[in-house]
Amino acid sequence: KLVAAPAGTKPRPTLAGPKTIPVPSKALNDRVGVVRGDITTLGVDAIVNAANRSLLGGGGVDGAIHRAAGAGLVRECERLGGCATGAAKITGAYRLPCRRVIHAVGPVYDPGEHEASETDLASCYTRSLELAAENGCRSVAFSALSTGVYGYPSRWAAPAALSAVRKFLVDHPARAGIDKVIFVTFEKKDVDAYNESLPIFFPPV
Ligand code: ADP
Repeated sequence: KLVAAPAGTKPRPTLAGPKTIPVPSKALNDRVGVVRGDITTLGVDAIVNAANRSLLGGGGVDGAIHRAAGAGLVRECERLGGCATGAAKITGAYRLPCRRVIHAVGPVYDPGEHEASETDLASCYTRSLELAAENGCRSVAFSALSTGVYGYPSRWAAPAALSAVRKFLVDHPARAGIDKVIFVTFEKKDVDAYNESLPIFFPPV
C-alpha cells in the first residue's frame, strides 16, 4: 500500500539497486578491484582524477595528481577549455607512473536533486571508460569521484559507480578493451561502501 509522504518532505534516496539482477560471472569479477591507497603511485594505463570544471587543479585528489605530475599537466589542461559536469577529458601523465590521466567532473551532491546527481556521477564513470578504451588504456584506476568536498555520500556513490562500470564491462568484453578497473580511495568510508556494493553488482560465482 502506498503512503503519501507528508507535505514538504523530499523522498529519500535509497541504495540504488541494479535495474536487472546481475548474473554472477567470474570473468567480470576478475576485472574489478578496490585499493586503499594513493592513486598517484599506481602504474596503470589511466588514472581518473576527480577534477573540477576548470580542469586547472584543486584540492583533494586533484591537487595530489597535479603535484605529482608536475607543471606540464596544468599547461596541457589550460588548452582544454574546461569540462562540463558529468563529462571527462584525457591528458598525458607527465611525471606520474601511469600513462594517461582522465579528468572527470563529478557533480556537487545536491540532496534535493539526488537523481540528477546520480545521473551525472554515473556519466563520469561511463565517459571515462569510453575515453580510456578509445585511447588504448586497458587498466583504469578511479578516484572516488565527488565523495570528498563535493559531498556525495559514499554509500550512494559506490553503487552508482559500480552500476555504471558493470554495464560498461558487460557491453565491452575484455579482449576488446578494458580488462581491469580499480576503485582507489584513501578513506575507510569509501572502502566500506565499495565492499558493501561489490557483491550486489558483481555477485560471487
Ligand atoms: P571531489 O571534489 O570530487 O569530492 P575530492 O578530491 O575532494 O573530490 O575527494 C575524492 C576522494 O579522493 C576522497 O575520498 C579523498 O579522500 C580521496 N583522495 C584524496 N587524495 C587522494 C589520493 N592521493 N589517492 C586516492 N584518493 C585520494
